[in-house]
Amino acid sequence: MSIAENIKQVLSELPDGVRLVAVSKFHPNEAIKEAYSAGQRVFGESKVQEMTAKYESLPKDIEWHFIGHLQTNKIKYIVPYVTLIHGVDSYKLLTEINRQAAKAGRTVNSLLQLHIAQEESKFGFSFDECREMLAGDEWKKLGNVRICGLMGMATNTDNTEQIKAEFRSLNNFFQEAKATWFSNAEWFRELSMGMSHDYHEAIAAGSTLVRVGSKIFGERIY
Ligand SMILES: *Cc1c(COP(=O)(O)O)cnc(C)c1O
Repeated sequence: MSIAENIKQVLSELPDGVRLVAVSKFHPNEAIKEAYSAGQRVFGESKVQEMTAKYESLPKDIEWHFIGHLQTNKIKYIVPYVTLIHGVDSYKLLTEINRQAAKAGRTVNSLLQLHIAQEESKFGFSFDECREMLAGDEWKKLGNVRICGLMGMATNTDNTEQIKAEFRSLNNFFQEAKATWFSNAEWFRELSMGMSHDYHEAIAAGSTLVRVGSKIFGERIY
């Protein structure tokens, strides 16, 4: 199947209220153009240099989402144009995004990443670390970064019950955070979860943004 057909297939499976982030990392501009021609406008990348090069050479109505692990010294390169940063996993990173966003005269939308998987390798706050940060008032003073929701990655396993339980735990925390710290923040509404192999489970657990790469663009060559 072509990229355009893959996009149509995935879109046909998304209920109202769930948006597709087409994860184009490690794929060339030609692949993105094909998805663009099929109507896709939201793309996800995980490397700062790669995303910036693509931003510079591709149509300006593309929404670029940064989904990787962001290093503080590289924030400045994406802040002028990024639409959403998915993986904010420390207070320090949040303050640095705020600082660079203020310099650029922007407010940058971001998601807090929670560690929900039974794997050491994945990044993110624990639920308690995140509660502790949100319970403090410091983050509320960061006027140039807007926390729009949460992001998480499930364990890479064939055990769908485990995957569902992990996604549900993130949705439970999302509801708690919404009720406790964001009850008046209509922008706190995104739950970024689900990749090629588990987006159906993520949608069943309340995802609003699925990040699908290989199912659309084919396997990546690392
Ligand atoms: C690469 C990546 C994806 C997409 O993964 P696929 O399995 O190719 O769909 C989604 N989210 C994050 C954070 C990624 O790094």
